[in-house]
Amino acid sequence: MNIAIIGTGYVGLPTGVAQAELGHTVTCIDNDPVKVEMLRSGLPTIYEDGLEELLRSNVAKGRLRFTTSMAEGVPGKDIVMIAVGTPPHPVTGEADMQYIHAAARELAPYLDGYTAVVIKSTVPVGTGDAVDKIIRDANPTADFDMVSLPEFLREGFALHDFFNPDRIIVGANSERAKKTISELYAPLAHKTKMLFVKRQSSELIKYASNAFLAVKIHYINEMADYCEKTEADIAEVAQGMGLDSRIGNRFLNPGPGYGGSCFPKDTSAMAYMGRSQNIDLTLIETVLRENDNRKLKMAARILDALHGIPSPRIAILGLAFKDGTDDCRQSPAMEIIEALLKHNVRITAYDPKGMPNARLALGDKIAFAETMEATLKDADILAILTEWKEFATLDLEEAKALMRRPHILDLRNLLDPANVCAAGFTYQSVGRQ
Ligand code: NAD
Repeated sequence: MNIAIIGTGYVGLPTGVAQAELGHTVTCIDNDPVKVEMLRSGLPTIYEDGLEELLRSNVAKGRLRFTTSMAEGVPGKDIVMIAVGTPPHPVTGEADMQYIHAAARELAPYLDGYTAVVIKSTVPVGTGDAVDKIIRDANPTADFDMVSLPEFLREGFALHDFFNPDRIIVGANSERAKKTISELYAPLAHKTKMLFVKRQSSELIKYASNAFLAVKIHYINEMADYCEKTEADIAEVAQGMGLDSRIGNRFLNPGPGYGGSCFPKDTSAMAYMGRSQNIDLTLIETVLRENDNRKLKMAARILDALHGIPSPRIAILGLAFKDGTDDCRQSPAMEIIEALLKHNVRITAYDPKGMPNARLALGDKIAFAETMEATLKDADILAILTEWKEFATLDLEEAKALMRRPHILDLRNLLDPANVCAAGFTYQSVGRQ
């Protein structure tokens, strides 16, 4: 099939590359000429495991192209996917639709022949109807159907999740659109379930899923808080809970609160959607508030551990919002650092992939180290804020020799408490003694 994808971010780029790998002919359109230039020369603009190889091989096979021009990218396509951002309004949390609406206006004149216009971005219920109207107003003779095809990929596993989806949700109100999307995913049909629903239900499935996962993370964090006041151990509690198939064992890792470009934004947008219908989504509203507070509480834990040390030096491992990605958007680590910087502290940080993005956000407010070890030099405390597996391989003897005070605050429960204590560290983690 011939596909255009508008937006080459964390969703659009892996999706475009993977659709090309399935054998489709894909044109990725982005209005950022710098990104398009990089991608044309075979350089991915984001970090995702395996992306660079597939990007280069599909460009070489002539199945994948990049352009800044709708006039070049949209005509003659069976499917045009919109994968642009839907960031939160800073005050209300409402999803900002300006990029979706702009993309719809810009693509409309170039539709020719039958096209399924697919919204991949995460959008409020009713967006398909609004975009349908924008396109019809701009191009009254266009022959197209609107489809909602929410994206469930996890950053860090984007390609794996594309090729092994738990499910593919298709919100389509016409048989023609359903047939087009079935053809698109035919190469994956044998290994997943395609669920066809109303477009409006599909739009809500994405928000309802992310809000549920956010609630699950906050729940285990609260259980961890309780464990810290008792003799219970959160790792054992989570394991025991997870064996119940009604609960499941995923998303039961306590930590510094959820972050990233999706959960905070999507829970805020869901809460706003409730408020705008005069419905109190009390659970989601509480989780939103308490998850924000949790990052401040974690910063306070670090400061408490440094009480009495003048101008302490803090070593931080982890800046990205989770392992496997360079994405630092609303990362707990970044929010904890911002809270720490309100005090008289010096911070040195390291992250295997996230440092370029963290540098853009933090500038020279903190120092960046090139290795784990360089981060630790003369530190009064080490705080582990992202769950990169390589942090678990830290050489504890060397770490102790490098640091001024042997104190580790492990907010991802990556290290083995017995080993760390045996190496002579004071060790605090989450929900464990
Ligand atoms: P992003 O900010 O990384 O990428 C958006 C891209 O769209 C940018 O490259 C931007 O230059 C481009 N763009 C914006 N307006 C454009 C226009 N008019 N024409 C051409 N290009 C344009 O965003 P993202 O993280 O990929 O998220 C995209 C959507 O997917 C959001 O709605 C998000 O909620 C949703 N989503 C994201 C993830 C994730 O893990 N990041 C997962 C599932 C769903």
